[in-house]
Amino acid sequence: MAAGSLAIRSRALPSPSIMQLSSLSRRSLSTRSQFSARSPLLSSTRSSCRAIPRQQSSPFQRVARRSYADDAASATPAPKPKKRFRFLRWTWRLTWLTGVGLTGVLAYSIFHLRHPAEQMEPDPSKKTLVILGTGWGSVSLLKKLDTENYNVIVISPRNYFLFTPLLPSCTTGMIEHRSIMEPIRNILRHKKATVKFYEAEATKIDHEKRVVYISDDSEVKGEISHTEVPFDMLVIGVGAENATFGIEGVRENSCFLKEVDDAQKIRKSIMDCVETAMFKDQAPEEVKRLLHTVVVGGGPTGVEFAGELQDFFNADLKKWIPDIKENFHVTLVEALPNVLPMFSKQLIDYTESTFKEESITIRTKTMVKKVTDKHIEAEVTRPDGTKEREIIPYGLLVWATGNAVRPVVRDLMSKIPAQKNSRRGLAVNEYLVVNGTENIWAVGDCAVANYAPTAQVASQEGTFLAHLLNSMAKAETIENELKRLSDVQAQAKSEEDRNAALGEIRECQRQLRRIKQIGPFQYSHQGSLAYIGKERAVADISWWAGNIASGGTLTYLFWRSAYLSMCFSTRNRVLVAFDWTKALLFGRDVSRE
Ligand SMILES: Cc1cc2nc3c(=O)[nH]c(=O)nc-3n(C[C@H](O)[C@H](O)[C@H](O)COP(=O)(O)OP(=O)(O)OC[C@H]3O[C@@H](n4cnc5c(N)ncnc54)[C@H](O)[C@@H]3O)c2cc1C
Repeated sequence: MAAGSLAIRSRALPSPSIMQLSSLSRRSLSTRSQFSARSPLLSSTRSSCRAIPRQQSSPFQRVARRSYADDAASATPAPKPKKRFRFLRWTWRLTWLTGVGLTGVLAYSIFHLRHPAEQMEPDPSKKTLVILGTGWGSVSLLKKLDTENYNVIVISPRNYFLFTPLLPSCTTGMIEHRSIMEPIRNILRHKKATVKFYEAEATKIDHEKRVVYISDDSEVKGEISHTEVPFDMLVIGVGAENATFGIEGVRENSCFLKEVDDAQKIRKSIMDCVETAMFKDQAPEEVKRLLHTVVVGGGPTGVEFAGELQDFFNADLKKWIPDIKENFHVTLVEALPNVLPMFSKQLIDYTESTFKEESITIRTKTMVKKVTDKHIEAEVTRPDGTKEREIIPYGLLVWATGNAVRPVVRDLMSKIPAQKNSRRGLAVNEYLVVNGTENIWAVGDCAVANYAPTAQVASQEGTFLAHLLNSMAKAETIENELKRLSDVQAQAKSEEDRNAALGEIRECQRQLRRIKQIGPFQYSHQGSLAYIGKERAVADISWWAGNIASGGTLTYLFWRSAYLSMCFSTRNRVLVAFDWTKALLFGRDVSRE
């Protein structure tokens, strides 16, 4: 109010001094409004001011008014702004500054992403390093590899990196698949030296001839679609394929969940089952079958998919297609006595109770023996130990039971005597060198290094290998330099030149010793996370020497922030955050692509 009256006054008296005064007073009053409203001194000042006709305002009055104001201010010391408001003001300022900072960082990283620098041309005198695969292992290696040290060639049938932990969310349209894909061309274009990429599958590796045979299996083929790529050094990071354990009918009738295509197929099949169940005159038994999804495999992938699907039903399907309400059902089948065997007992119990609340049936100790297009035949172990065959009808079957060795890896293993006892993949030593070879390394799910087949292991192995290969290149450069210095020293004409060369030799040897000190690979487990539906997640996080087990909605927020921060690029992060917001606002899309 005080500020308002002063503003009117300043309009009536456009003299510069009054204008200054009024603006000053407004500024001070605006921060002291509570005080001025209560002060009798100021209110009397205001009434006396009002009594003076504005046109007659003399310089004396102006000075008087100013001195009154000063008196008032000096008479009662300005109270300090209340702590509460100070806190709010600082919070606001901090929020604002953080917002500006984050926008700046985002703008810079987008600019950096879109404007790669010029690259160095490959040096033909350097060794050829061939990397197979564009998954967790290979891309982590590429990220840290100094590509100017080698002629690097990447070969993979997939020209992108896939952030697999968020793949189950793509099956229900919570996240769009492109949001978790990073084009390999983007990654390679940001390397210092040019890296060649061939979109092809490695069909055979001849470790003796040092050649990889590759084949272009894409729909469009040129005149040449099979060729060979020679290498000096080879890194195998081809991952694994889906394990079916030789069970009849699995490959033909079920959907896997490993690649983008699988997630898209599941997304289509969910809606296909729902719409087919709603077809006119469909028999009740058939409706029940079509709306029954069976997930085989109680590991994190199976559990996460079951949770995501039930969420989809609860949040969207049920709303838009209420007729399916009574018959929609998800069953999780697991051969072991419980789901999520890598988690602690309390988190397993928590997951099972959450599934119960969500009406997801868990069938443990149930081993699938045969799959047809409409049902699975399973052997169920009853609590008394007796076994029984059961037929479980399904509309959609998702198979998430683990890994099997890829044919190219199996073929290589069969040719190396040192690999004859290995069953689950390429046996490697502590430096990830494939046993029985000198110049071939393996990372990720295709390597057997006594760790679980996870993205965490694969990416740590990739990073380790990058350091190892960088060190090897540096060591080679130093060794060449040592040879040169040795010649210089031998041909030195004076004692002084010889001593200088010897000094340099000593320095090179010191550097070489340091570089060669690189230790063996050591995996550091950061913890396990899994989404279990109903906006809940479970986490077993390594903390100091122990473990923290937690489950619930807060863990779900942690799960989200952890995966968001782990996404490959800023672009992925923004897209995933955008997808989550979109699903929150508009729900998931129930149209069939
Ligand atoms: C749905 C799902 C969710 C998961 N969630 C998690 C999780 O939350 N946390 C976690 O730690 N792990 C998780 N994993 C496991 C993790 O994804 C794997 O352990 C990891 O991808 C292994 O990395 P990799 O590099 O060995 O293989 P991949 O990442 O599978 O990459 C293999 C690469 O090799 C290429 N390739 C295949 N065949 C050939 C060939 N013949 N020649 C050349 N290239 C070839 C492929 O195209 C691909 O680019 C999940 C897996 C899935 C499927």
